[in-house]
Amino acid sequence: MSAFLSSVLATFGVSLLSFVGIVFVVRNWKERAEMRAIAFAAGVLLATTFLDLLPEALEHSGNDSSVLAASLAAMVAFYYLERLIHGSHKHHGEESHTGHHAASRYFILVGDGIHNFIDGVAIAASFIVSPELGVLTTLAVAAHELPHEVGDYAILVRSGYTRMRALFYNFLSGLTAVLGAVATFAAADFVEANLAWFIAAVAGMFLYIAAANLIPELHHQRVKGRFIYGLPFLAGVIVIVLLTTYLPA
Ligand SMILES: [Zn+2]
Repeated sequence: MSAFLSSVLATFGVSLLSFVGIVFVVRNWKERAEMRAIAFAAGVLLATTFLDLLPEALEHSGNDSSVLAASLAAMVAFYYLERLIHGSHKHHGEESHTGHHAASRYFILVGDGIHNFIDGVAIAASFIVSPELGVLTTLAVAAHELPHEVGDYAILVRSGYTRMRALFYNFLSGLTAVLGAVATFAAADFVEANLAWFIAAVAGMFLYIAAANLIPELHHQRVKGRFIYGLPFLAGVIVIVLLTTYLPA
């Protein structure tokens, strides 16, 4: 299968997975399940970053470590992107003005749209490197998108959207991942010429999501149980170690 077709199918699959996840999972979605999913995703993202993405980035740059600047740049960019989005909607728990809610859901949808677009670029750039890296990056994106999308859906419903509306808009903002993949191939010459930098940037993004979004959320420890946080995290790491070892390169 061509890298283009794989990327479009993978990004569409991730959007669909979030959609189906919300439809079927949300009724039984308990905080425990969410904590498990987040811990698993954190393990997957960290392992993918250090075992697959960074080694690939270094290999493609001919072991030029200056490519790591792209990881740093991605982390800095994500920090500011988050400040922009969260600075505007973080208070929705405490405040109940309708206008505030309406504003917050646009920030969620737009912020999500941007995030998912970048996920789409990450998946496409990985498939350009190799089918193996494409599959691993897709898995890492799917793992963190599922709990993320379910959480966003809940916020959208609380903000006043009907369930169908929240589902529909959430799905639309998920489809920007497909756009990201298509855009990457539209700029394929540029991406291929700077592939090591793109992959290093994806590594920085995954590291940021795991260390700055997911793990702090786990440390809030809203539900008790020492295995809820520990075992899925380790399982996420082990899954990637196994896939890295046994997937045909
Ligand atoms: Zn994502």
